[in-house]
Amino acid sequence: MHKSPVVLIRCESYELQAVSAAVERGLSLLGGIERYILPQEKILLKPNVLAGDQPERCISVHPSVFRAVAASVQAVTPHVTFGDSPGFGRPATHLNRAGMTAVAGELGIIQADFENGREVAAIGSQSTNKFVLANGVIESDGLISISKFKTHQLTRLTGAVKNQFGCIPGLRKAEYHVILPNAYEFANMLIALNLLIKPRLYIMDGIWAMQGNGPRGGDKIPMNVLLFSPDPIALDAMAARLIDLDPLILPTTKPGANWGLGVYTDEEIELLGDPPQQFYNKDFQVKRTPVEIVATLRGVSTLKNLISPRPFIQSLKCVKCGICVSACPVVPKALSWMDENKKMPPQYTYSRCIRCFCCQEMCPEGAIEIETPPLGRLFNRFCR
Ligand code: SF4
Ligand code: SF4
Repeated sequence: MHKSPVVLIRCESYELQAVSAAVERGLSLLGGIERYILPQEKILLKPNVLAGDQPERCISVHPSVFRAVAASVQAVTPHVTFGDSPGFGRPATHLNRAGMTAVAGELGIIQADFENGREVAAIGSQSTNKFVLANGVIESDGLISISKFKTHQLTRLTGAVKNQFGCIPGLRKAEYHVILPNAYEFANMLIALNLLIKPRLYIMDGIWAMQGNGPRGGDKIPMNVLLFSPDPIALDAMAARLIDLDPLILPTTKPGANWGLGVYTDEEIELLGDPPQQFYNKDFQVKRTPVEIVATLRGVSTLKNLISPRPFIQSLKCVKCGICVSACPVVPKALSWMDENKKMPPQYTYSRCIRCFCCQEMCPEGAIEIETPPLGRLFNRFCR
């Protein structure tokens, strides 16, 4: 039986020496980085940067993890680039704030073009027949995906599979939320995207993870682990198991296995490195229920509006920055200012809201939370 290797390496701090040793050990247990890239190949590093928050907030991949991986790749090929496309704003700004640009400057790594892109035909996808990929992705020979161990309200965890969504430039990402509001169709699209890009290797920064109201507004928590695998489904499944979450709760697991992107059962995964028991955290705050049945309905029906989980703003935390309004992809927007002076937090028009949670994902203050209306809780109880 084919088994996918997943390596777990203990690392308790972002001190560069410790991280470099952990990355080196993780890669060597997979047979060395040279098993995945060739000399002279153009290799793109794709760290999860999201909205470019300071490293100490543990929202983005930590710069020392990025640096350690980059140095390993540079030992094989001099042609290394890096990039990520945030949900709003310019990639250069976010990469700079997250500390990646400084590291890249020291190592002589060039920033790839993630602002512009071209259409590329999708492979065997039911959800879309083409993707627009960032030029930096198209122009590379191979990609190394560096994700962050974090919660996500739509996909439960944002990990190895979801990280490639940032290969779609700028606001084009929002279009996928509009045309694929069904959470499982969105997951299928992510699988198709990974099958198209075929990253060579997936690495996850879980030294400090994010629990609760992730991917930007949650609480940081030490998990003390770096994960490595050439299989993103296996890597995400292992991350889920570390927090006592059934991998099948992740909407990407089953389609990922069905379409041959990876495997997820214990029998199909070869665990290497440090024993998983030392990382288990059953109290990790994550939504432990499957994607709500009603959230799989297309568009915004009256039923969906009445019973599906919805975002709401905690007024006391809101600084009225308007990022959530900019992030809302529907037209007309489902979140808008009710007063010209913007003295009050933006307000939702739920009848337009497709429940993509882009507003919650982008709020820098963690002021947007997700609640299930009482009718929805009742509905879910009887439909499970
Ligand atoms: S992004 Fe967050 S802080 Fe900014 S206006 Fe929206 S809810 Fe308020
Ligand atoms: S209000 Fe928020 S959840 Fe609703 S459509 Fe806009 S961004 Fe998505």
